[in-house]
Amino acid sequence: MLGWSINLFKVFGIQLAVHASFVLLLAYYGYEGWVEGGLPGLLWSVGLISLFFVCVILHELGHSLTARRYGVRTARILLLPIGGMAELEQIPRKPSAELLITVAGPAVNFVLVALLLPFAWHGIFSEEEVALYSPAGLAIQLCIANLIMGVFNLVPVFPMDGGRIFRALLAIRLPYVRATYWAVMVGRVLAVLLAVWALYKDNYMLAVLFMFIFFAGTAEYRQTLRREQEDAYWAEMARRARLVAPAGEEPPLLIHGPN
Ligand SMILES: [Zn+2]
Repeated sequence: MLGWSINLFKVFGIQLAVHASFVLLLAYYGYEGWVEGGLPGLLWSVGLISLFFVCVILHELGHSLTARRYGVRTARILLLPIGGMAELEQIPRKPSAELLITVAGPAVNFVLVALLLPFAWHGIFSEEEVALYSPAGLAIQLCIANLIMGVFNLVPVFPMDGGRIFRALLAIRLPYVRATYWAVMVGRVLAVLLAVWALYKDNYMLAVLFMFIFFAGTAEYRQTLRREQEDAYWAEMARRARLVAPAGEEPPLLIHGPN
């Protein structure tokens, strides 16, 4: 399903792509804007949703550019109607590296909140009503969107940012697979609780999102387990090979000379 995407352009050498369903999202908000305020409403609505996604891209760039410092490449940044995804070629096993790469995403949102706050401040705290279609209205909406984006991603539901931070913190003390196991288990319980809560609030999109995260966490746990088993297998093979041919000794010759 993730294959139906359109490549846009590169930012900092990283391919930016949008999922085909993203067009439906723009069409939906465009239509809503049109119904509310004709052509200006449509342009405003599409512009606003585009700006939200610029913030999503900046969040993902936070992850990708920090990962680059650890020599990890990002295959692409994919935008989905539910948010963005920086497809890192691997997740560093070192807890401190995973921690910094993960924290960098929400940190970008909080920096954006701080930058937008002076423009939104008056509108938020003044008595008079701020027009929605105004620069102050725009600043308020972007400020709130970034605050929600930053906080939401810190919820410890693996493999969301909060869940990765939790895994990295556990991995400082626990073996890597154990740390992943507990991060996934806590994440699963939270994902189910939050999905039920979202259903109760009639927010079906959010409920689907949490179920999607539930399965993504399970899939990544299996993948981690498989990779660890493979690594252990090859480490054991290397150990046996060393036992057969101790260091410094010539390996046995298979080809004999004439005798
Ligand atoms: Zn993130």
